Amino acid sequence: MIRSMRPVIVAGNWKMHTTPADAGELARTIAARTCVDGVVRVLCPPFVCLAAVRDAVAGPDAAAPDGSGVAVGAQDVHHEPAGAFTGAVSAPMLAGLATWTIVGHSERRRDVCETDELIGRKLATSRAAGLRTILCVGEQLAEREAGRAIQVVDGQVRGCLAAATPEAIVAGDTLGFAIAYEPVWAIGTGRNARGADAAEIAAAIRATLTALGFPNGGEDVPILYGGSVASSNIDEFMAEPSIDGALVGGASLKPDEMAAIVARAGLTAAARAAADA
Ligand code: PEP
Repeated sequence: MIRSMRPVIVAGNWKMHTTPADAGELARTIAARTCVDGVVRVLCPPFVCLAAVRDAVAGPDAAAPDGSGVAVGAQDVHHEPAGAFTGAVSAPMLAGLATWTIVGHSERRRDVCETDELIGRKLATSRAAGLRTILCVGEQLAEREAGRAIQVVDGQVRGCLAAATPEAIVAGDTLGFAIAYEPVWAIGTGRNARGADAAEIAAAIRATLTALGFPNGGEDVPILYGGSVASSNIDEFMAEPSIDGALVGGASLKPDEMAAIVARAGLTAAARAAADA
């Protein structure tokens, strides 16, 4: 059964929170409280905290290629591998610090005017450096209210994927490329999308991946939901067969919330494994 072969992923985006002095302890606590079979866990602290988080989850908690353990991700990456780009961090520089990255987060589209074309280059350089990459897409509230959510997300996916071939993006790694559907109006607002709406967008994204020639029609690409995810609403998303986990912002800084979110995601992972057996 194709659907159940997709991994279940919970990624935490710590945004501009924590310091090198306290990030390790938070990561250690979350790692210890989220040991759930079948859930790929990724923590994305600020750049300056990557080493502390890496060290905190080393040992039994360290990420393995199969997604067990806790992986460390960067929240962004530059679109060039090296050069005269003051203050920037490139994908090759992350070697030894992070194995994942997020590209295209709406806060970066909003704050530094990142375009789909630029985000596509970030995706390509990340994958070329072997970083597993979460591409964020999502519509504004006015676009949803105008009935244009699917059209907007389709345009973002096509724009971001124009710079590389599907084969280069996936590169034979089932965890290599994921898409996070994050409606902008749901991020940090406490107002989450409905599970059915997220599922509708996920289906539309997979239709776009099919049209773009992704292997197996894009059925193998995990699609996460993000936008005010909490322990109180994660079930709504995990109940949707087309949704493969969550990109969690504010709640990912709270160990109790992360423990509950990952536990709920683990139920979906177990159900998928049973359906596969
Ligand atoms: C995010 O940062 O990607 C996010 C979804 O944030 P929040 O969960 O706080 O809405």
